[in-house]
Amino acid sequence: MDEYGNTGEGRAARRDEAVRAAVEQGLLGPDSPIVGLLDVTGIRESAAELRAAFDEVTAPGTPVLHAFAVKATPLVPVLRLLREEGIGAEVASPGELALARAAGIPPARTVLDSPAKTPAELREALALGIAVNADNPQELHRIDGLVRSAVSRSPLGIRVNPQVGGGSIGATSTATATSKFGVALRDEGAREWVARAFDERPWLSRLHAHTGSQGMPLDLMVRGVEETYALAEEINRHIGRPQIDTIDIGGGLPVNFTSDVTTPTYAQYARALRAAVPGLFDGRYGLVTEFGRSLLAEHGTIVARVEYTKSAGGRPVAVTHAGVQVATRTVYAPGSWPLRVAAYDGKGRPKNGPVVVQDVAGPACFAGDLLAEGRALPLLDQGDYAAALDTGAYYFAHHYAYNSLARPGVHGFAPDPAGRVAFATVRAPQTIAEIVAESGGAYADALTTLRAPGNR
Ligand SMILES: *Cc1c(COP(=O)(O)O)cnc(C)c1O
Repeated sequence: MDEYGNTGEGRAARRDEAVRAAVEQGLLGPDSPIVGLLDVTGIRESAAELRAAFDEVTAPGTPVLHAFAVKATPLVPVLRLLREEGIGAEVASPGELALARAAGIPPARTVLDSPAKTPAELREALALGIAVNADNPQELHRIDGLVRSAVSRSPLGIRVNPQVGGGSIGATSTATATSKFGVALRDEGAREWVARAFDERPWLSRLHAHTGSQGMPLDLMVRGVEETYALAEEINRHIGRPQIDTIDIGGGLPVNFTSDVTTPTYAQYARALRAAVPGLFDGRYGLVTEFGRSLLAEHGTIVARVEYTKSAGGRPVAVTHAGVQVATRTVYAPGSWPLRVAAYDGKGRPKNGPVVVQDVAGPACFAGDLLAEGRALPLLDQGDYAAALDTGAYYFAHHYAYNSLARPGVHGFAPDPAGRVAFATVRAPQTIAEIVAESGGAYADALTTLRAPGNR
């Protein structure tokens, strides 16, 4: 249970109803054996919890921009829904920026962070007035040139790495000593370089740090913000005016993948931040946050039909349509990214009965393509459905084209006025013609028309 007495039962009940309705309404079946489902009610609730958590800890009138990290769920209708809930966008590539713009997110509510921005990207961002955080001295140098040559409304800042240490997953630990992101603050001369950079550039007004992601303990995330705040205070004191007026604390709140209970909550994180860094919330600084996974993960479900069942080495195996193409991290690094799997019968009703240790396999042609290995579940039968839970961020929106498997369709769901489940298409399933086109179908002769070596 979380501090609101929320056990996640509402979310689980909505999910079960959606799976049943998806089968009933034909979104799932023999000819469409996999879909991604998004719980619109749940997404709205998480956005409201995020806003309330920071409203509670900030002085009245403090500017706070919650910018959703688009990479977590790069789907235009999701960004539009979040926009309606008062959430902006954090983008890290030309593609992500285009998605945010297609969703109608205004430049003033968009933040560009990425470690490899080209001159053209920087120019576009500054022309639009999008906030940019420089990752490193070379990038700041490029920005210098742009600031000299044109007027821009973009708030500009520097990303720092407080080097507070990593969490349990190396690949998502951004604040290790050797992380590739930002200016490594504890390296020799780095702190002085940042201070000088602000001193010499009156237009630099922000500090940014994103100290972790899944697997980071809350206290390390808080330490990262504490260090960033301390640096801002030091720089402003030294310059003698509040030149740094906004601190971007990044995202990274971890998600509980083991049950339907949300833990930690935004409220817990915001309170821990205020307890450790009260000065950050007294109204002298504007705030930017960049949460991704914690806004969407719990609200997505991949549902896949069991095509066949078999037994190998005495272990039952359910061969489904969900594997590495939709759950790439889980399949390649199951120790770091285990997912819960729920069993539904052929009508989409939760399956009960004695649990049996079994493998839930995907459709790809390599042995490791397992959604879950040795998992205790009600025994899956042919024509049943297996659902991978908490997959709304970094899963079905991040298709991996192994075996030319098609991107599944994604549908949002919410109750209609009659209390039935209504679906809306978020992304249509990829067609076979699209797969051929994206695989060079228009250039079939490209290689055979190049002259073979030695063949005059
Ligand atoms: C990925 C990323 C985020 C979002 O991280 P989550 O763990 O999904 O909350 C925020 N800011 C930056 C700079 C990122 O790279």
